[in-house]
Amino acid sequence: MKILRMREICQAVKGEVISGSEESSVERICTDSRKAEEGDLFFPLIGEMHDAHKFIPMAIDRGCRNFIVSNPEEILNHPLKAQLHVIEVEDTTRALQALASYYLSAFQMKKIGVTGSTGKTTTKDMLYYICSEKYKTARNVGNFNNHIGLPLTVLGFEEGTEVGILEMGMSEPGEIHVLADIVRPDIGIITNIGTSHIENLGSREGILKAKLEITHFFDEHNVLVVNEINDLLTKENTEGVYKRLSVGYNGKSDFIISDITDRGEEGIAFTVEHNLDTQKFELTIPGRHNAINGTLAVAAAAELGITMEEAARGLKKMELTEKRLNIKGKDGVKVIDDTYNASPDSMKAGIDVLMSTKGMRKIAILADMLEMGKESPKYHREVGRYAAEQKVDVLIAVGDHAKYIAEEAKKIMGEENVIYYSEKEKLMNEIKTMVRLGDIILVKGSRGMAMDQVVKKIME
Ligand code: ATP
Ligand code: MG
Repeated sequence: MKILRMREICQAVKGEVISGSEESSVERICTDSRKAEEGDLFFPLIGEMHDAHKFIPMAIDRGCRNFIVSNPEEILNHPLKAQLHVIEVEDTTRALQALASYYLSAFQMKKIGVTGSTGKTTTKDMLYYICSEKYKTARNVGNFNNHIGLPLTVLGFEEGTEVGILEMGMSEPGEIHVLADIVRPDIGIITNIGTSHIENLGSREGILKAKLEITHFFDEHNVLVVNEINDLLTKENTEGVYKRLSVGYNGKSDFIISDITDRGEEGIAFTVEHNLDTQKFELTIPGRHNAINGTLAVAAAAELGITMEEAARGLKKMELTEKRLNIKGKDGVKVIDDTYNASPDSMKAGIDVLMSTKGMRKIAILADMLEMGKESPKYHREVGRYAAEQKVDVLIAVGDHAKYIAEEAKKIMGEENVIYYSEKEKLMNEIKTMVRLGDIILVKGSRGMAMDQVVKKIME
């Protein structure tokens, strides 16, 4: 991070210095007292469970001297008070966001925001590899994509960063608006509109509306990149407001994907046509859906003057983030670890990868998709039907909602190759006896189902 003085921080967050010096310098932002150090500015955040103001003494013990607080009582009574530099604000989370926004405004940086129901992290990481071919690029690490993770990410950007790529996550309306206000992205990407968090958003149209909040601060200089293969991302009317670039499979789209070759766990190859340019891409990560994510990234990068040839070079270097379709092998058994999260679209994408990977028996272990709302049974049935239609050899469903996956799959696959567990623990006890040499096993479910434990068990 670029060094900031308490004076400018105070202005940025519209606070008041209530103790210490305005000239004290800040080298890093910290919200976890266990990691606080000298030179840090500690933001005690107030969450549903905890008020981190109570950890201020720990941060002081660890050498931290700069603080932003909404409740100054305790800090003003601390024995080391004379050494502390303290700004008071109304709300520490909002102050963190305001500071991130100020920090970004001080950079000459192109900013790209990535939202959508699935594929955000993948697309963000793809863009990182592409943009790094030409520019000093920064991005959120892992999945730091919410109203706290995103400002923290931004405040870690180094001086001289030329391109910032920011994943924007949401589970409720209004959240992307807040993130877009902080970032003010030059370019926005919507990867797709699925059904994740539909419980909070009412309908897929509601989800679309919430994702489009990424354009709330757009004018004619901004660009929105959309995946036109998605049924809902074909009709938004942007004429005269901002530029729209589309990715799709046919001539109507600005970037046209063709010739997808699925090489199983080796990855995929595909071709993209844009204006008069045609480029072949190779990805070392598996999954046909990644041709779409990759092309969205290529389209956004083109706006930064990166040619498709340069983009192809960058994409080839891409590695896959932990727990997103990692293929692991041990003793002749392969596991596709896709346990990070799940929605109907990503379940289907996972099943596609399973079917394109070499193995004697293709086993899908599918657990609950959470936050699916009233229509949860329907979405689970849809996944069960898909798995059966793709002809997985064995389907193992786990959890209360996954009962519907099993029910639907049985209609096509018959009883014997569909196994249902209401409890994950029971599966954990039996899984080792079920797998055979040559099996390839997809493991997937919502984060709350912690299916990575099943992967661990198989790999033991
Ligand atoms: P989260 O909301 O959890 O942050 P995300 O949007 O960042 O998710 P990724 O982490 O990139 O998404 O991918 C999550 C899952 O979605 C993976 O299992 C991946 O296989 C699948 N996926 C990625 N892109 C697509 C796509 N375009 N269509 C369908 N499934 C996809
Ligand atoms: Mg993500």
